[in-house]
Amino acid sequence: MAENCLFCKIIAGEIPSKKVYEDENVFAFYDINPQAPIHVLAVPKAHICCANDVDETNSDAVARVFEAIPKIAKALGIDSYRVINNCGELAGQTVMHLHFHILSGEKMGEKLL
Ligand code: AMP
Ligand code: ZN
Repeated sequence: MAENCLFCKIIAGEIPSKKVYEDENVFAFYDINPQAPIHVLAVPKAHICCANDVDETNSDAVARVFEAIPKIAKALGIDSYRVINNCGELAGQTVMHLHFHILSGEKMGEKLL
């Protein structure tokens, strides 16, 4: 757990969240500021700051998230959704703990996030 990391605190239960799914490696919860009717964040429990920090030593944590995504979708009752990762400030990353936005519930068109 990284100090002063919002998502590490959410995973640890120190900050409340609306949990959708949890297993040994992955935590998923509703985004506090939804950009679509369904907006969930899927995060590895391991603290990785962003896509730039993924390498052969930690990419299994990312694989576990993508293995969990169909289970998260099933829990949400959806089979069509958009998965987005923002990496870095220009891309709009505001929480420096790797996370994947799962957006669904409306026709998404060109809207990115
Ligand atoms: P990003 O901008 O890609 O870093 O995404 C961070 C996301 O975290 C944003 O969509 C925020 O709405 C969301 N967020 C921030 N604080 C919380 C929180 N306490 N609980 C749930 N989602 C949060
Ligand atoms: Zn963290």
